[in-house]
Amino acid sequence: MAKKKTLWETYSPEQLAEAQAFCEDYKAFMSNCKTERECVTGIIDLAEEKGYRNLKALLAEGAELKAGDKVYVNNRGKMLMLVQLGKGTFQDHINILGGHIDSPRIDLKPTPLYEDNGFAMFKTHYYGGIKKYQWLALPLALHGVIAKKDGRSIKVVIGEDPSDPVLGITDLLPHFDKDMRTKPIGTAFTGEDLNVSAGTIPYIPENEEEEKDASEAVRKNILNILKQKFDFDEEDFLSSEFEIVPAGPARDYGIDRSMIMAYGHDDRICSYTSAMAQLAYADTVTDRTLVSLLVDKEEIGSVGATGMQSHFFENAIAEIMNLAGEYTELNMRRTLSNAKMLSSDVTNGFDPNYASIHDRTNAPFFAFGPTLHKYTGGGGKGGSNDACPEFIAEIRKVYDDNEIRFQLAELGKVDGGGGGTIAYIMGNYNMDVIDLGIPVHSMHAPWETASKVDIYEAFRAYKAFLEFM
Ligand code: MN
Ligand code: MN
Repeated sequence: MAKKKTLWETYSPEQLAEAQAFCEDYKAFMSNCKTERECVTGIIDLAEEKGYRNLKALLAEGAELKAGDKVYVNNRGKMLMLVQLGKGTFQDHINILGGHIDSPRIDLKPTPLYEDNGFAMFKTHYYGGIKKYQWLALPLALHGVIAKKDGRSIKVVIGEDPSDPVLGITDLLPHFDKDMRTKPIGTAFTGEDLNVSAGTIPYIPENEEEEKDASEAVRKNILNILKQKFDFDEEDFLSSEFEIVPAGPARDYGIDRSMIMAYGHDDRICSYTSAMAQLAYADTVTDRTLVSLLVDKEEIGSVGATGMQSHFFENAIAEIMNLAGEYTELNMRRTLSNAKMLSSDVTNGFDPNYASIHDRTNAPFFAFGPTLHKYTGGGGKGGSNDACPEFIAEIRKVYDDNEIRFQLAELGKVDGGGGGTIAYIMGNYNMDVIDLGIPVHSMHAPWETASKVDIYEAFRAYKAFLEFM
């Protein structure tokens, strides 16, 4: 059999130029949006430019929605749904794209700031599946939000502007790590050791009153700086969310610039491309109602109010159906079970450094397009949504008719490990849903990599799904 050609070889010069331009925008998004909140505001900005309006405002007006109208629904600033109404009814079927916008990271504990021998430090609690040693001795940034009692919400970012300081978690010198290096990797680095260095300058008392309490002066100085910069009082730790993420922008990767290295490709790479695919139809009245779901909390089980298991999705669909004059309980149930969905999440791209974890005949490769996963899960497919072949045949037809390249693969060798997405939760509505993902390397590491042509081909794949399913 002839060797299959990569997208680099099959794209026209125009497509290559479009892919490069698309990836420039993606890099800018990834450099600016490193938390779920920043992704929500980033996508809302783009959606409003295209005429999307907040559901809250439409409800207040008692608006009547019709084909072509565009709505976004913002759940607590951490989960977002974009809906563009089509010519068909909701229960005919709606086309849904979904990805997650939370990424593995290190959060500050509720009472984080302490002083130890002249160092102000933050205690942390990691979020999602991180390999702890990867986060040591790296430039890190602090992103977050302070919810003040007076109702203000203050955004914090330290470490991204080139003139900003960065933070970090120290590593042990190899000259003295004898005890550490003989331990298994899972026990050598503990969660309680991931303390972030925040500063070393003691506060200088300004009067006799302050002179009396000279304890923890370095810690006090940090609080003083936070007060001046963000109007932050120590009690505000109670109602804040601070995330420690890798500092710095997304970059081209490889001497040939064929890839992008970024923090949080998992799963903003699918979320951004999905949202952009939907926004590409903003000036068209489509046959189907288009929905993009950008969800939080996937990395910890899709739980809570802003995770996919929340009732947010069906409540928001019900509100929009109501404004479109289509809501009844039965119509709603039919809408959910007739829907068609691409649940999108990154996949485990074949990596020459770790070839042994793959069955090569069923592995996703870079530059061959997005990967359909009929099922994910672990062991005997445990925990997986298993897409029906009839549904896959519909997708195949759409992709072949529109010259969209895709792969069909597994995450890795049988019994080698596993993974899950939001697909099974949507499957609970009895809708047709399949996983489609972009292959990445170093998944869940501070800096992940992916191929530019896969990113662009995924965007094309989402667009075709929205238009032709
Ligand atoms: Mn993911
Ligand atoms: Mn993940």
